[in-house]
Amino acid sequence: MELLKQRIQSEGLALTEHVLKVDSFLNHQVDPKLMEAMGEEFARYFKDHHITKVFTIESSGIAPTVMTALKLGIPMVTLKKQASKILNQEVYQTEVRSFTKDLRYLLTLSKNYITPEDNILIIDDFLAMGEAALGAARLAEEAGAKVAGIGIVIEKSFQPGREKLEEAGYEVYSLARIQKLGKGIIEFLT
Ligand code: 5GP
Repeated sequence: MELLKQRIQSEGLALTEHVLKVDSFLNHQVDPKLMEAMGEEFARYFKDHHITKVFTIESSGIAPTVMTALKLGIPMVTLKKQASKILNQEVYQTEVRSFTKDLRYLLTLSKNYITPEDNILIIDDFLAMGEAALGAARLAEEAGAKVAGIGIVIEKSFQPGREKLEEAGYEVYSLARIQKLGKGIIEFLT
């Protein structure tokens, strides 16, 4: 998505060779027009995948995901990050390891918002090691639902996330794919 790549190039900050900061339009301040354009692009790409719900992980995935759900005319569900296990029968939970933040959390989904008939699109802001997206897919599948695809705003293609998701059988569509990060360097895959 050309517009997104331009914004990453002009406003993105490579904190290290592995971490990109895009606080001015996605992770802190949010540009609603850009979010709408992302929603249109995800909806265009996944329109024939018979999606029934769009899942994301709190919190930076919410803005592009709500726009996608709006364009597809279906609900979105935000998977919550809990610090400790919830001991009741009303939720599905799975542990996710964040390498970027060096912590673990329990991704949590209420049983009220998924059925075995659901065909889920998972959207997240970044793809790095693939652990967050795999955790979201585990929850959907534990409920007996299908995962129809994974939409990523910014994929860091030099990390193994896409490979892991594709190996697990998921279709991945990323709006921007970065092949290299470094001091003053942000390079995209064509
Ligand atoms: P993964 O589970 O694929 O390793 O990481 C995905 C999650 O980590 C995303 O939801 C995002 O919150 C965070 N993340 C990973 N890499 C980056 C990055 O370079 N910049 C930012 N802002 N977040 C990242």
